[in-house]
Amino acid sequence: MSTERMGEAVSASRKGMIAVAVFSFGENLLLLAAPLYMLQVYDRVLSSRSMDTLIYLTLILALALITLAMLEYARGRVLASVGTWLDHKLSPVLFERAIESRIRGRSYGAESINDLATLRNFVPSTGMKAMFDLPWTLIFLGASFLLHPYFGYLALGTVVILVLLGLIGEFVTRDAIAKSNEMAMVARRELNATVRNVEVIEAMGMMGNISRKWRERNGGALELQDQVFGRTTTIAAITKFFRMFVQSLTLGLGAWLVLNQEATGGVMIAASILLTRAVGPIEQCIGSWKNIVTVRGAWRRLKEFVAEPRFRTEAMELPEPKGHIACEGLVMTPQKGGAPILKGVNFTLEAGESLAVVGPSGAGKSTLARLVVGALPPTRGLVRLDGADVFTWNREQMNKYVGYLPQDVELFAGTVAENIARLGDVDPEKVVAAAKLARVHDLIVRLPNGYETEIGEGGQHLSGGQRQRIALARAVYGQPRLLVMDEPNSNLDSDGEIALMATMDALKKAGATVLVVTHRPSLVQHVDKMLLLREGQVEAFGPRQEVIARLVKQPQGQEKTPQPQPSKPAAPAKTAATGSGGGVLRPQKIVPLPNGG
Ligand code: ADP
Repeated sequence: MSTERMGEAVSASRKGMIAVAVFSFGENLLLLAAPLYMLQVYDRVLSSRSMDTLIYLTLILALALITLAMLEYARGRVLASVGTWLDHKLSPVLFERAIESRIRGRSYGAESINDLATLRNFVPSTGMKAMFDLPWTLIFLGASFLLHPYFGYLALGTVVILVLLGLIGEFVTRDAIAKSNEMAMVARRELNATVRNVEVIEAMGMMGNISRKWRERNGGALELQDQVFGRTTTIAAITKFFRMFVQSLTLGLGAWLVLNQEATGGVMIAASILLTRAVGPIEQCIGSWKNIVTVRGAWRRLKEFVAEPRFRTEAMELPEPKGHIACEGLVMTPQKGGAPILKGVNFTLEAGESLAVVGPSGAGKSTLARLVVGALPPTRGLVRLDGADVFTWNREQMNKYVGYLPQDVELFAGTVAENIARLGDVDPEKVVAAAKLARVHDLIVRLPNGYETEIGEGGQHLSGGQRQRIALARAVYGQPRLLVMDEPNSNLDSDGEIALMATMDALKKAGATVLVVTHRPSLVQHVDKMLLLREGQVEAFGPRQEVIARLVKQPQGQEKTPQPQPSKPAAPAKTAATGSGGGVLRPQKIVPLPNGG
């Protein structure tokens, strides 16, 4: 979808650019009015002393200049709207992709919005207009030749030297501009990340170190920018000197030709004006060179970013799922490479069943939870929700059927009600129902503005537990068919925990499938099944009682001692309980629940 939109945006802006080219054609043609006027005034009016001719000529000039002004206005408007249009079309695409790229662990995403702003600001700028005027240099050169070949040669020489100066400018600044932009981008990124960690910085007095690091990065970018500035200013100064000198030189050459009776006074003035027109766009391009290079980089990055394959393809709508979950050979390797986090996880859950995923830290539990809700694509294997790959489920549809409570709860800027309603239209009844289901209604009505309390930056500060409970209401909003919770009780007090268990029970009664990652034995009592994950592999899976019975029989420390293999897989009758080792439980490795479970 986004690549199409990029194409659409580009082709629509192309149409705009064609209009701008046409306007530029008209404008530059009309720019010839001034030298022609000069020519006529000097050579005709002054010699014939005809007042009428002067008036007519002036009227024609005024008309031409008014038309030129109108074209300039139209060109400016079209360019401005192309800029806005590009932003309008591309920012939603980039926004989506920025979020996607964050999941992929890439940091360019947010920068793409800055690059788009660079592009949008450049489109209506003088630099852009100068690029449209550039081809007209040739026309003005041709006109100079028509006046007198000497004027033509002088103008041509000037243009050649200016272009050379431009190329030298490009050559001496290109690398520095690219590098300083890159460094500035990294510095900005680091600053953003640092600001988020402000409490750690304050608590442990890290400010000096952090600010030194930032100064080093930013200072490097500034130094390079300074260098670029110095060089472009030098080139611009030489250009200006040269252009002014040649302009006067044209008059000198004109005077010489007049003395030799090869030209008239009018020709002399007209040649000078033509030279100004011919070199104007070149000079402007040289002046805007830094912007042009920057925008070229931004455009290239944007194109590459949007051309990257989509995270997921647009999926068709499926019927409402019942909540059957099947994990088939799930392997998850981090994007950057390295050891797999999950090494072939298999299990199935019937609709309406609940599962506790337990295991030591770093076992891959959170990763499994993310895969089950389709927030991440597995490297190999897949998770099926009612038979269909959950990752490719239509995301808007998932909004209705899936509830997810991540480990690090983040709420969005907005009111409590908006957060519970997942930032969609707030249906007060559904919001209150979700809050009651999550047993958080009373807590919310005690907030300063109840459901209308603003949270997020500048809003009401909520404690970790309060955030977690509101996030639970968000997860159960609309009675999802599948609820996945990652350590939902990490910040809860005992009341909160009791509320959480009641919520789980209520959802289960409503037929939802519930998967909960937990360290706490109390929650385990409320599930049908248990899955013990260790180092990315399923060590045990089955009905809770069975797994616990085996865990109790197998005190810690025994897992390394070889134990007799059971003659038959301990899988429960209804579900497939398989580890990576080929579909059988390996009870000899079963260990007691971590954290004393
Ligand atoms: P658990 O929830 O069981 O503590 P996680 O699923 O959070 O485990 O993480 C399992 C392992 O995978 C950890 O070693 C962690 O460092 C690694 N890991 C998790 N997410 C990523 C990621 N995006 N990139 C690289 N490694 C990751």
